[in-house]
Amino acid sequence: MHQERDTVDVAVIGAGTVGLSAALALLVQGLSVAVIDPRPATSLQDSEYDGRDVALSNGILDWLDTLGALSGLADGERSPIRGARVSDLEVSRSLSFGPVPGADRVGEFIPEHRLRDELFTLVARQAGFQPLLEHRLSGVHMLSDHIQLTLDDGRSLGARLLVAADGRGSKTRSLVNISHRTDDQGFDMLCCRVKHSEPHDGWTLQQFDNGGSIATLPLQGQQTSLALMLKPVDADRVMMMDEGTLRAYLDTRLQGRLGDIALTSSRYRVPLSGSYADRFHAERTILLGDAAVGMLPITAHGLNLGLMGARSLAAEVAVACLNGDDIGGDSVVATVARRAQLTARPLYLATQEIARLFTQRDAISRKLRYLAMTVSHPFQHFVGLNCEQRDARSVPWIGALKEALPLWKRSRPA
Ligand SMILES: Cc1cc2nc3c(=O)[nH]c(=O)nc-3n(C[C@H](O)[C@H](O)[C@H](O)COP(=O)(O)OP(=O)(O)OC[C@H]3O[C@@H](n4cnc5c(N)ncnc54)[C@H](O)[C@@H]3O)c2cc1C
Repeated sequence: MHQERDTVDVAVIGAGTVGLSAALALLVQGLSVAVIDPRPATSLQDSEYDGRDVALSNGILDWLDTLGALSGLADGERSPIRGARVSDLEVSRSLSFGPVPGADRVGEFIPEHRLRDELFTLVARQAGFQPLLEHRLSGVHMLSDHIQLTLDDGRSLGARLLVAADGRGSKTRSLVNISHRTDDQGFDMLCCRVKHSEPHDGWTLQQFDNGGSIATLPLQGQQTSLALMLKPVDADRVMMMDEGTLRAYLDTRLQGRLGDIALTSSRYRVPLSGSYADRFHAERTILLGDAAVGMLPITAHGLNLGLMGARSLAAEVAVACLNGDDIGGDSVVATVARRAQLTARPLYLATQEIARLFTQRDAISRKLRYLAMTVSHPFQHFVGLNCEQRDARSVPWIGALKEALPLWKRSRPA
C-alpha cells in the first residue's frame, strides 16, 4: 500500500488526540498516512498538562487499549470513575449514574496531553507514517480518484482520503465548503488540580449552584481536578486571586467536602462554546473530533465522540480494503458521517439545553430543572448505569414530564 512520498492513502489534518488515534488505527492496517499539523514534533512528544483530565468511557478505553495507546501510561495517570452525580443545589435534586452491574467503574479520567503524547509516539513508530509537521493545509483540489492537497510551503500531496481533525476552528472544514454553527453560552471554564486532606469516593460530581457549576473529577493520589463554569467577569476575578483567597473560595464552593486543599497545578481557562458542522463529510473527506462537533465539556462527551468517529472510520476503511473498494468513497465517508451524526446531534442539543437551563436563575427555569431531574430520575435505572437499584415505578415521572414540556417551550428564547 505504501506509495511515493507525494501520494499517500490518507492525509490526517491535525495531530490532536482524535487525529492521532485515527492515524494510528489506519497505519496499523498497513496504510500510508501523512499527518499535517503546525506544531513541531517536540511539542507533540512531551507536551505539558493543559488542565484537561478527560473522562473516557469503558468502550473507548478498550479500543485505545487494543491500539496499545494505554500501555505507556503510569497507573497513577489512570483514575477510575466509580460513578457520576449531578446535583442542583437550588432545587435540591440530584441524579446518580453508577456502572453497569458487574463493573467497578463507568470509565477513567486520563490527562489528555499524556494520551496524545502516547499516541504520537506510537504513530511515529509506524512504517507508513509521513510527518508533515510545522505545516498547514492551504488548499484542496478534487480529482477523480484522489484529492490534491497544497501545503503552506507550496508543496502538494495526493491522498485518497482526507481526515479533517484540526479542531473547532477547522480550516479544512472551510476548504471543503462545510459551514458550521457556533453556540456561545457566555461562560468560561476554569480548571485546576488540588490535593486534599479528605479522601474522595471516586465519584465525579457536577454541582450546579448560583447560575454556574463546579465539577469535581476524582484522581489518583488524593487529588481532584476541578472545573468551574463561570461568567467571564467572575473568571477574571478567580484567575487574579492569590492562592490563599482562591483556596478559601474553592472551599466555599466545595462546601468543605475535600477538607484542606492545596493547588497542585496552574489555573487554565477556556471559553465555553459549542460548535456543530452542517455536514460531517464531503467528497473523499470526513470530519472527526472537534472539527465535526465541539461539545461543551460539562457532559464530558467531546473526546469520546471524536474517538468513536476515529474507531468507526478505521472499521469502515478496513472493510473497504478487504472488499477492494475505494477507501475515500462515499460508502466509507458517508457511512461514518451518518453514524456519527446519529450519536452527536442529540447529545449536542441536549448538552446545550442543559447548560442553558442550569445557568438561569428565574423561577420558570428552576421549576423546569426540578421537573427535568424528576423526569430523568428513573432513567438512572432504565439505562442500567446505576447499581443502586431503587424502584423506578415510585417516581412520578409521567406527571412531571407533562408539566415540564409546556414550561420548557415557554422558557426557550423566541
Ligand atoms: C476543560 C475541558 C475538559 C474536557 N473534558 C472532556 C471529558 O471529560 N471527556 C471528553 O470526552 N471530552 C472532554 N473535553 C473535550 C476534548 O478535550 C476535545 O473534544 C478534544 O481535545 C478534541 O480533540 P481533537 O483532536 O478533535 O481537537 P484538538 O485537540 O483541538 O486538536 C486539533 C489539532 O489540529 C491542529 N491544527 C489546528 N489548525 C490546523 C491547521 N490549519 N492545519 C493542521 N493542523 C491544525 C492543532 O495544532 C491540534 O493539534 C474537554 C475539553 C475541555 C476544554
